[in-house]
Amino acid sequence: MKNKFEFSILGNPNSGKTAIFNLLTGLNQKVSNYPGITVEKKSSNIRVNNKDIILNDYPGSYSIKSQSIDESVVRNAVLSWMSNEDSRPDGIIYVADITNLRRNLYFFSQLLPLDIPIIVLLNMSDIVDPNQIVDIDKLKKNFNIFDIIPFSASKKHGLKNLKITLGRFVETNLTQPINNSLKLSSSNKNLLKPLFDIINNHLKLSKKIIEDLSLSIFSSESFCNKLFFNDSVKAQLLKERNRILSAIDNDMLQNIRTLESDLRYGFIDDVLYKSDYKKIKKVKLQSKSEKIDKVLTHSIFGPILYVGLLYFIFQSIFTFASVPMDFIDSLVTSFGNNVNRNLPEGIFRDLIVDGIIAGVGGVVIFLPQIIILMFFMILLEDTGYMTRVTFMMDKFMRMMGLHGKSVLPIMSGYACAIPGIISTRTIDSWKERLVTILILPLISCSARLPVYVLMIGAFIPNVYIFNFFGLQGLVMVAMYFLGTVTAFILAKVFSKFLSERSNPTLIMEIPPYRLPIIKSVYKQLINRSKLFLVNAGKIIMFISIVLWFLVSFPKIDGESVQISDSYAGKMGHLIEPIIEPLGFDWKIGIGLITSFAAREVVVSTLSTIYNVEDDGDDMINLKDAMKNDINPKTGKNVFTPLVAVSIMVFFVYAAQCVATFAIVRTETNTWKWPMFMIGYMTALAYLMSYFVYNFGLYLGFS
Ligand code: GDP
Ligand code: MG
Repeated sequence: MKNKFEFSILGNPNSGKTAIFNLLTGLNQKVSNYPGITVEKKSSNIRVNNKDIILNDYPGSYSIKSQSIDESVVRNAVLSWMSNEDSRPDGIIYVADITNLRRNLYFFSQLLPLDIPIIVLLNMSDIVDPNQIVDIDKLKKNFNIFDIIPFSASKKHGLKNLKITLGRFVETNLTQPINNSLKLSSSNKNLLKPLFDIINNHLKLSKKIIEDLSLSIFSSESFCNKLFFNDSVKAQLLKERNRILSAIDNDMLQNIRTLESDLRYGFIDDVLYKSDYKKIKKVKLQSKSEKIDKVLTHSIFGPILYVGLLYFIFQSIFTFASVPMDFIDSLVTSFGNNVNRNLPEGIFRDLIVDGIIAGVGGVVIFLPQIIILMFFMILLEDTGYMTRVTFMMDKFMRMMGLHGKSVLPIMSGYACAIPGIISTRTIDSWKERLVTILILPLISCSARLPVYVLMIGAFIPNVYIFNFFGLQGLVMVAMYFLGTVTAFILAKVFSKFLSERSNPTLIMEIPPYRLPIIKSVYKQLINRSKLFLVNAGKIIMFISIVLWFLVSFPKIDGESVQISDSYAGKMGHLIEPIIEPLGFDWKIGIGLITSFAAREVVVSTLSTIYNVEDDGDDMINLKDAMKNDINPKTGKNVFTPLVAVSIMVFFVYAAQCVATFAIVRTETNTWKWPMFMIGYMTALAYLMSYFVYNFGLYLGFS
């Protein structure tokens, strides 16, 4: 008796596969109302009736013959199941969006002939009752499916039934009765031979066609069998033989494609008709979204609304975060002071308090902001608004040498460049994809947020312009704007000079507006925060310790020297001549060095430096320390509003995140592009900062 089973979850993009995968496994992979969010296969184990089932969550696909990288994961899997029976999963869970049943059955019809038992989930049944669309029993019989279950991932309807069905499956280990058992009779074979010959010839003739169809492994007959497979399709093929033969001429590939979809939809419509299919509801549903879209994607209001939304998000980061930030700040300070009182004086206490607590605490404070930013991004995606933005922006994106599908990666870039770079895989055109990757690190990610917040909070006055626009919020938006605008300009420049292959078509389906699944939003936020904290825990703790050491040593006669004479101070002084024209002193220089590991480290670095420098035992307030710091050489303040702006501008552009370049290396498969990025970003950071600082001096700021 078999004990281990493998099920693959397949279906169209955005049909709810990942939501169902998460329900079954208790994991929380990213669910999103944006086609193409799952770009790789994800696997996990579940246990049903004391048997193991491996579940594989695949990216969505409309057909096994689609082009983009995420869909090729599916295509390659299905093709290998075709050619090699041993590689097949024991079953397929096919997720079909009931609000668009007919189209969802197309890919399904390609999976049918594999003779793998299929469980169909009619998902989104909370929106439309499947029983009003189709007679489920008849559908099950006519397609000869293992089981069909009405399902709702958001309401968890059908989960119990699915588990029962899976249990039944593993108990009996039933296999589906073979669907295409009827081979062609020899007379039919003869009739279809001319057609097979043409296809075969073309397969031989054109390597491109073979590659495009990825079906080179098949002889003409089995090719046609696999392509059209079903008895009723075969019957239709025979019936339409003459029409087809006369239609097939030079443009073979196109004809095979339209031929296939004609026949498949003929077959699907046939079965649906026999299963009392009605499609009234779909119209209603669409029109509701359409009404909303009339406003939200209006050619004038649409973009205005979008920009307004972005401004609202950034201002709320300041407004809503200040209370929890102050709370965390006081928590960290009192924790540090407590530890200080309870540990014996000495080097160990200095390390814990001035090194670790000051360093890690300095960054943890920014958690509320990151959560707020993430929260809004998740909402925009989950409601389906992002897909609209993709279309709204497509024309503009194309003008800038990008692609409509670059919008989502760029938007994710505001959280972190890394997921953004990975999600460029949905862009089917290599050139547009590469350009998107190259400019993504210019988008201000959440690691810059602590830097902006610290500098703005300390040096930009909290005043309101016209009693409405907060200056702090505006400066913040300006920083994001600077990065974003530069990204677009460079995209245009890069696309002019790159000679990569381009295929800039945008095929994407607009999903209806949906209420986000609260639990999934919540889980994503938790995940994101954990990631941030673990990061703070690992990288920042490590760097804080090293830095504390570099700042506190060498010791002379057991006494700490001035920071300026410490190892770190020497490093800072070493690069000071280079960064002086930007308005930076050696302390900021140390921050620039350490922030190569991750940008937010600059904050913990400053926090550590000022805490070590401070003679008193209590933890200091970083903002105050920075404000009061006087440069002994010039007698002027080290930090001024102008210096703060110069620092921020530097951080907008600088190539400072090792992890990003590692990802770019894997995604582009060469060191050429990450090196190029480091080069152009560093040059840009230096030049822009230099310009801003000196222009500021010229205008009379100090
Ligand atoms: P995938 O692309 O097939 O993996 O789809 P996802 O699991 O990412 O879900 C796509 C969108 O549909 C998300 O916005 C989900 O919140 C939403 N969704 C998934 N299942 C249901 C459902 O049963 N009902 C409703 N109303 N929305 C759902
Ligand atoms: Mg998915």
